[in-house]
Amino acid sequence: MEANGAEMIETLLRGAVLAVAEREEIERFVRNGRLPRKVAERFVAGDTVADAIQAGQLLSAAGLTTTLDHLGENVLTTEEAHAAVQSYEQTLRAMSAAGLEPNISVKLTMLGLDISDDVAHDNMLALLETARDVHGFVRIDMEDSQYAETTVRLTEALHSRVPDHVGTVIQAYLHRSDRDVERLIERKVRVRLVKGAYAEPASVALQRPREVDAAFVRLMERLLEDGTYPAIATHDPALIRATQGFAMRMGIDPHTWEFQMLYGVRREAQNALAGEGYGMRVYVPFGTDWYSYFARRIAERPANLLFVLRQLAPG
Ligand SMILES: Cc1cc2nc3c(=O)[nH]c(=O)nc-3n(C[C@H](O)[C@H](O)[C@H](O)COP(=O)(O)OP(=O)(O)OC[C@H]3O[C@@H](n4cnc5c(N)ncnc54)[C@H](O)[C@@H]3O)c2cc1C
Repeated sequence: MEANGAEMIETLLRGAVLAVAEREEIERFVRNGRLPRKVAERFVAGDTVADAIQAGQLLSAAGLTTTLDHLGENVLTTEEAHAAVQSYEQTLRAMSAAGLEPNISVKLTMLGLDISDDVAHDNMLALLETARDVHGFVRIDMEDSQYAETTVRLTEALHSRVPDHVGTVIQAYLHRSDRDVERLIERKVRVRLVKGAYAEPASVALQRPREVDAAFVRLMERLLEDGTYPAIATHDPALIRATQGFAMRMGIDPHTWEFQMLYGVRREAQNALAGEGYGMRVYVPFGTDWYSYFARRIAERPANLLFVLRQLAPG
């Protein structure tokens, strides 16, 4: 079937924004500009763990739960990876001390996956032992497709050592995701389902938004039916309705799964779903290394870029 014009433009814009964002002069401009920083603040809770805890407490007062993400990607030395483990341990302990459910989201490349699988595995195991101590949970975010197989495999290995405290993410756009979902369902690993945020080639990922949505619905149904406390992570009103409708038709208890959304995106919808009695967890990023995260949010919704440019326009 032919993709329609709007879909083609959307796909092209996403790719273009991610490509432009990789250019050094753009990164310097956005990082140092006062106004782009102000816009980033909408999506990032602050520089420190204290800022993120404060955001988590405000959300908690409104009946929402959180997962905190100390931003950063791709460390290249074991020292940096150890520092990341320590900072994540500190985040888990700080959440526990503040009376928040200790729940964090972590990228394996921050724990040394580019150094070796073993380094990432051992660092994650150390972090999971802290998570077990504080009765917390660590979600292993899914990065670009070159890491997909390793991420699923390491999650399985870690889950067999520290069950109940670790889960991962499945991206609906990847061709491999049906098989991965079945693998994770069988091992009772908690899965967060997302559309997928990286620019991927057609050889590994669906390109048309309609096809990604259809895959999302198919995987959502499998996870709600047979998964272990799945998280349905989307801001898309049609997919949220599809999830609610499926759960209702199948008589699936809303306490056996949850919705997730990103900090600063569709806040009213977050509050409304929590008010209707659905579990709603907000992904709260913090830290000084916010640039790549911010670029992906702009790529998802180029309207946010227009907002930045309008703020920058003189008079
Ligand atoms: C909790 C959570 C965790 C995630 N973890 C991962 C991960 O580990 N790996 C990964 O690849 N991706 C991850 N993502 C990102 C995900 O893959 C998508 O890129 C992102 O969620 C946008 O897709 P969408 O389902 O919201 O639908 P879209 O089609 O992007 O958006 C649907 C509608 O939502 C609203 N909306 C969406 N984005 C924005 C925005 N930035 N600003 C304002 N409104 C917006 C708009 O109304 C839009 O029409 C995560 C997303 C969430 C919510």
